Amino acid sequence: MTNVTLITGDGIGPEIADATRRCIDATGAAIAWDVQLAGVDVMETAGTPLPEATLESVKKNGVALKAPITTPVGTGFRSVNVHLRQMFNLYACVRPCKSYVGVRSKYDNIDLVIVRENTEDLYAGIEYEKGSRETLELIDWLNAHSSRKIGPDAGISIKPITVAGTERIVSYAFEYARKMGRSKVTSVHKANIMKYTDGLWLEISREVAKRYTDIEFEDRIVDNMCMQLVQKPELYDVIVLPNLYGDILSDLCAGLVGGLGMAPGANVGEKEAIFEATHGSAPKYKGLNKVNPVALILSGVLLLRHLGMMKEAERLDSAVAAVIAEGKSVTYDMKPDRDDPTAVGTQEMADAIIAKIKAGR
Ligand code: NAD
Repeated sequence: MTNVTLITGDGIGPEIADATRRCIDATGAAIAWDVQLAGVDVMETAGTPLPEATLESVKKNGVALKAPITTPVGTGFRSVNVHLRQMFNLYACVRPCKSYVGVRSKYDNIDLVIVRENTEDLYAGIEYEKGSRETLELIDWLNAHSSRKIGPDAGISIKPITVAGTERIVSYAFEYARKMGRSKVTSVHKANIMKYTDGLWLEISREVAKRYTDIEFEDRIVDNMCMQLVQKPELYDVIVLPNLYGDILSDLCAGLVGGLGMAPGANVGEKEAIFEATHGSAPKYKGLNKVNPVALILSGVLLLRHLGMMKEAERLDSAVAAVIAEGKSVTYDMKPDRDDPTAVGTQEMADAIIAKIKAGR
């Protein structure tokens, strides 16, 4: 048995976590679930949204499936999601985007994977507020060292891109391509404008690519990449991007294949990996047995592949595909009309997926 931490989250989290766990168990995967809590519900009893026991469990098991967690606005409560990513240095955010027959979308032939760098770039959190003493000192220094002048009313965000960080994520993208039998990696940048950050990213991408002669490599400027993805997404396979472009293009690609309900994800570090849906905790649907469990179930497919349980992963993926293609036992958001009375609940959709798994075994 492989031990996997299951963080049930809050809002719709517990419902979709339960549905996903049942589907994964039905594949025959030899997983022992170590159920742990995080989020606003446990905050009331434990005094923290991220109990030490949950962190210890992720550290011990190295692999977690995490349901969504609310980040309340305007309280001292930090984002548990960001905290987990930082704590375990989950530097790679992997988001496959694949067309499933039966999902309403403008495209039907997409099968690409976004690999986003998760720790550097403008998201590193190094920011200087307009008017602060540090900001004014920084502006003075910059003005003394550059022919371009910055006014004293500027706020400044720093964009660090390192050799080590780029090497690590681009190598990850190539290793992922190799492991998953994919044939091409596209590195995305704006090296023509930001020569010392995106230029460095491109230089290192090219160096790393030389070590993987079995996999095709190309690069694209980010604005062109957006147009290409809208016009001919079928040309792309694995796409590796710095943090900011990765964030934006993940949503673009989720939109290409039917939106948030279909968008699974993984945050991967050197030792730990946490699998989660791209969507949040949708608190207004809490406890209604209404929402779509597919994004978390597909995150479960990624988890099974990560654990090398390829047969189980394919069983689960095919069963999800079959249920969606039939279009009968699906939640309201997957029906052509969202008020369709034939829509089923979260658990009933999971039951239909489990029935397909059992029929196929
Ligand atoms: P959200 O993704 O929770 O919901 C946006 C809308 O998308 C919902 O109103 C709902 O209509 C729809 N939706 C989301 N998931 C769905 C599903 N499985 N099935 C059907 N419809 C679904 O985004 P939000 O409202 O911006 O955020 C709510 C909370 O979730 C916030 O506190 C936010 O910080 C948090 N959040 C957490 C994560 C995470 O845990 N990784 C990610 C994003 C947002």
